[in-house]
Formats: sequence, structure tokens, C-alpha cells
Amino acid sequence: MARYTDSVCKLCRREKQKLFLKGQKCFTEKCPIEIRNYPPGQHGNSRRAKVSEYGIQLREKQKIKRIYGLLEIQFRNYFEKANKQKGITGDNLVKVLERRLDNVVYRLGFASSRKQARQLIKHRHIAVNEHLVDVPSFSLVAGDIIKINDKSKKLDLIHSSLKKVKDSTYSWLSIDKASLSGTFIQVPERGDVPLNANEQLVVELYSK
Ligand code: SF4
Repeated sequence: MARYTDSVCKLCRREKQKLFLKGQKCFTEKCPIEIRNYPPGQHGNSRRAKVSEYGIQLREKQKIKRIYGLLEIQFRNYFEKANKQKGITGDNLVKVLERRLDNVVYRLGFASSRKQARQLIKHRHIAVNEHLVDVPSFSLVAGDIIKINDKSKKLDLIHSSLKKVKDSTYSWLSIDKASLSGTFIQVPERGDVPLNANEQLVVELYSK
């Protein structure tokens, strides 16, 4: 599978917003957005022509895609899935993205970024309902229990990441730090998800 290999901080600078892709560095003054909040490249800091409606929609789509660490084809597939469901397509899109195992491992605090969460999963450190799962896109359902495998419980990166997490950050997740496990209580409502993006613009973009 193809993957993005350039500096992820450039992605934040392109969107002129923190996307929190680097874990702890994102909360320090070393974050490039704190230093130069303009798009990368020779003309990044120059004034640009007025952005078209299409351009605004495109940037919003890119932003959400990058926050969740997805490639275009994966993101499009999630949109198609959301579009087939009942309800508001934009809300559905956020909900299907939030159900991804890598996202939940990150939100539970076992990893400091979604990228790190994907590595934990691929390296077989995570189990769902006592079964090892090494697929980051695995889609969780209400009641699923996510656990660090017994052999992996001493991993430093998990403990240092967990130290920075409060017990009840998200209403749809519960965490038990002592046993290094968490529960996906329910699929969150859009209003509960701290996602600084307008998914409706994605719906408009893909509906053209
Ligand atoms: Fe984005 Fe984090 Fe890099 Fe800052 S440190 S630019 S928030 S990925």
C-alpha cells in the first residue's frame, strides 16, 4: 500500500492549522506551525489569489483526510459508505472515521498520534475482544474492548503516552489504565468529536 513519506509537518503548514500528526512535538514550541504558519514552498508566504469555492472544499477534504492519516482512495471509500447510510452524510463520515481502530487506540491514549497507533497495531500489540488485530482500519462496534497484549504491556511508548491522558477525555470511550484496556462504549455523535473541520464541505465536493 502506498503511503505518505514526506514530513507530516508540511501537511499542517499546507492547511495552516495544527493537525496533531506528530504526537508530543505538536504541543511544544518546536511545532513548525508555531514558528511559520504559512504553506511550505518558495511562494508559501506570499499573498495568494482569492480561493475558489472548489478550492475551499478541496482543502477541507485534504485536512480531514490528513488528520485521520488516509490516502485518497481510502477516504473516498469511507465517504461512499457514509453516503449510503441513513442520516446526515457529513455526520456519518465522521462516525465511520472515528470507528477505526487506529483512531481509537490514539484517542484512548495508548499512542501519541494516529501514526504511532497504526504502528502499534501493525506490530501486533493490540487485541480487540481478546483477539489480536493487526489491521489499523478495523472498524469497532459498541461494546468492543481494546487491550494491549500481555507481551506488550511494558512498552515505554505506551506508558509515556498514557501519562498525558486523563481518565475520561471522551464520553464514548472508557479507559482502564491499570489493565491497559479501554472500551468503545458507543459510536460518538458528531457534536462530541473534537474535529476542527467542516465535513459538509467534503459532501459538497464529492457531490459535484
Ligand atoms: Fe503539525 Fe504536530 Fe508538526 Fe505541529 S508538530 S506541524 S501540529 S504535525
